[in-house]
Amino acid sequence: MIKLLEVKDLVQSFNLTSDFLDKLKLKNGRVTIESRVVNAVNGISFYINRGEVFSLVGESGCGKSTTARTIIKILEPKGGKILYKDRDITRLGPKEMLPLRKEIQMIFQDPYASLNPRQKVKDIIMEPMLFHRVAANKDEAYNKSIEILKKVGLRPEQANRYPHQFSGGQRQRIGIARALAVEPELIIADEPVSALDVSIQAQILNLLMDLKDEYGFSYLFIAHDLSVVRHISDRLGVMYLGCIVEKGSKEQIFSNPLHPYTRILLSSVPTIDEESITDSLELKGEIPSPIDLPSGCYFHKRCPFAKEICKKVVPQLKEIEDGHEAACHILLGEEGDRDNEKKGYTR
Ligand code: SF4
Repeated sequence: MIKLLEVKDLVQSFNLTSDFLDKLKLKNGRVTIESRVVNAVNGISFYINRGEVFSLVGESGCGKSTTARTIIKILEPKGGKILYKDRDITRLGPKEMLPLRKEIQMIFQDPYASLNPRQKVKDIIMEPMLFHRVAANKDEAYNKSIEILKKVGLRPEQANRYPHQFSGGQRQRIGIARALAVEPELIIADEPVSALDVSIQAQILNLLMDLKDEYGFSYLFIAHDLSVVRHISDRLGVMYLGCIVEKGSKEQIFSNPLHPYTRILLSSVPTIDEESITDSLELKGEIPSPIDLPSGCYFHKRCPFAKEICKKVVPQLKEIEDGHEAACHILLGEEGDRDNEKKGYTR
């Protein structure tokens, strides 16, 4: 297997108090300087092999979309490394990123907001083709755009219409066509079906998988719903509050979920598969604020299995079986807990 993308200890945060005066606070009669920082992504690592679908799943606000935007360099990473085809692209500027923008494409959650309402569909698809010189001239770009429209299930005569003349599912097909137009190698699909009706979701997922089989590209697939990624993923990472708490192959995650958070997410997925783990566990409370991260295990305030150590010692990811890692004190055992404490993994 050849790695196409590798993310190592990626960190992303946003300072809410960039103005110096905003940082000044009065505490116990004294003026102190305080910054409010949103810790959106807290040191995550994963890789995607060529031709593979890797999914990041977790509740809204867990940092998965921020991860996607950081990888594609819409946001500059605050720490860690991004390797694409073994090349370190972490600090590349906009000019150096330009050729890579052709190779790494993004499909957005809201197809309407991501399409220019003043452009006809054919122009939406032709524009990136001409910019990245995938087509030598307008005629070639037009012919290619018609072919791509047919591939995504739209009719050639629809090329002259505007985005508002399409349904939500059709607009997502246009978004997919625009990504395909530049012959990408990696597609980052950020919640591509969550804004669509359930009946349309399956059609779009099937389309994405058919296109992958035909063109051989890889996906980083972002979703909050495990049932959406169940059939399309090769491997998954489960995110909680900016961290990956479990990762492994689709079979490992769905047949043998290890982390309590994964087990709770899975228990809320309706299934008729007898082999699936369906503990009746419920997720308590709201996801904590990324401005004020909890101590120890970030999940301890909501976890039905939390122990004393969970409040102060950070569980590290540990490989429990080949390629299957999880970060939980229950899995580490007492020896692992002591080891983590000794290494100073406290917060
Ligand atoms: Fe729950 Fe503790 Fe495991 Fe965190 S480390 S998931 S709080 S048992």
